[in-house]
Amino acid sequence: MNIFDLFLTPPERRANEKIREALFDMNDPQSMEDRMRDKWNNTADVSWIDPEKPMVAISFDDGPVRPVNEASPAIRIQDAIAKAGMHATFFYWGNTYDEDTRAEIVRAQELGFEIANHTKTHPFLPQLTPEEMKAEVGFMEPILKGISGQEQFLLRPPYLSVDQVVKDTINVPLISCGLDSEDWNKATAKQMIDKIAKACENGSLDGKIVLMHETYDATAEAVEFLVPYLVANDYQIVTISEMFKARDKEMQAGQVYGECPQ
Ligand SMILES: [Zn+2]
Repeated sequence: MNIFDLFLTPPERRANEKIREALFDMNDPQSMEDRMRDKWNNTADVSWIDPEKPMVAISFDDGPVRPVNEASPAIRIQDAIAKAGMHATFFYWGNTYDEDTRAEIVRAQELGFEIANHTKTHPFLPQLTPEEMKAEVGFMEPILKGISGQEQFLLRPPYLSVDQVVKDTINVPLISCGLDSEDWNKATAKQMIDKIAKACENGSLDGKIVLMHETYDATAEAVEFLVPYLVANDYQIVTISEMFKARDKEMQAGQVYGECPQ
């Protein structure tokens, strides 16, 4: 207790305590930075979404895909979702990014999709030092900013691998998944369709973030079937940021999200 507080009533003491805490924050750039970094500015336009209806956020990793043409599974996926007037989230890495594949990311942005970050070289983040982590995460950010004008981008950690140091170091929300298509594990289009259709039928798909990869033909085939199927079942296919904003849920930096329940 402060010596001057001895002459104050308990409520006055508590008020003084709060003022001192606030002053301390103002003088401590680190604590200001910590509080700022928790804020995730969700700029998604959700005017087209009915928050009462079911929704799902399908997300695709490991793009852009070479070469960018109509045979690319990534372009087939973009088209299937865009034709239905729906949206999805694409997590891009530096491994295949160049002047040519940039066109795929630009196209995703123009179709109203969410473009997001999947690091530079796809490492296990917990194996890196905080400085190495920041460099990996920082590589795609200016590229994505140049395309979208956005300031911050959701991150999908490679292999969904996260520890406390990653959470403390990365200043954006960390996106896991609530339903894994297992396309990375050689799932066929039929297996992916069966798994997602079953979740649609029993209601558990609502609010889920689905993990897929835009690099497989089987995934493109599954998506071409699933988009009209989900729409026929009254599902809205939305981006991750759209889902959280439509449901009035805030995301925080350094927190891991796999779903957004109603
Ligand atoms: Zn990946």
